[in-house]
Amino acid sequence: MKMAARPVIKMPDPMLRRKSHKVTAFDKDMQILVDEMIETMRQESGVGLAAPQINISSQLIVVEYPLDDQVEDAKLELFVVVNPDLSKTNDETVVGIEGCISVPDLVGEVERYDSVLVNGLDRYGKKQKIYATGWLARIFQHEIDHLNGILFVDLAKKIWKPEVENDGEKITLE
Ligand code: ZN
Repeated sequence: MKMAARPVIKMPDPMLRRKSHKVTAFDKDMQILVDEMIETMRQESGVGLAAPQINISSQLIVVEYPLDDQVEDAKLELFVVVNPDLSKTNDETVVGIEGCISVPDLVGEVERYDSVLVNGLDRYGKKQKIYATGWLARIFQHEIDHLNGILFVDLAKKIWKPEVENDGEKITLE
């Protein structure tokens, strides 16, 4: 069965500023929601999506990105994390350029931890632990911020409108 993508809400929608509720039920409705989030993320060409972005106040994120993007032709990995808890693994930080499908036409320079450990549950309620570095670590930090009502523009040292590149492709991230 093909799941439908849902509309993505944009800043300044107040839902993007709320703290999301913990997920307690892993029933059929939850499975449908997870599939719709994956579908929405792919349709928006995003590398991640948090439930508040489709107007659902739940601690649920989906991420699709290679575990190690330094490898050539690295395959995409799909992560579904429920009630995530993020911690840094050391103090090393890195600055990168982020965008967000809920913050159209803006990008910004954001400092993030270079490696993080994400503890949480999978879509069926089973415990999982993900160690992420580099860009994947950045995506997890960005998406988990959404569950706390934080947007990248709150953290960015510099924000600007990206130029359309020569090949007509715009810079879009998560
Ligand atoms: Zn975002």
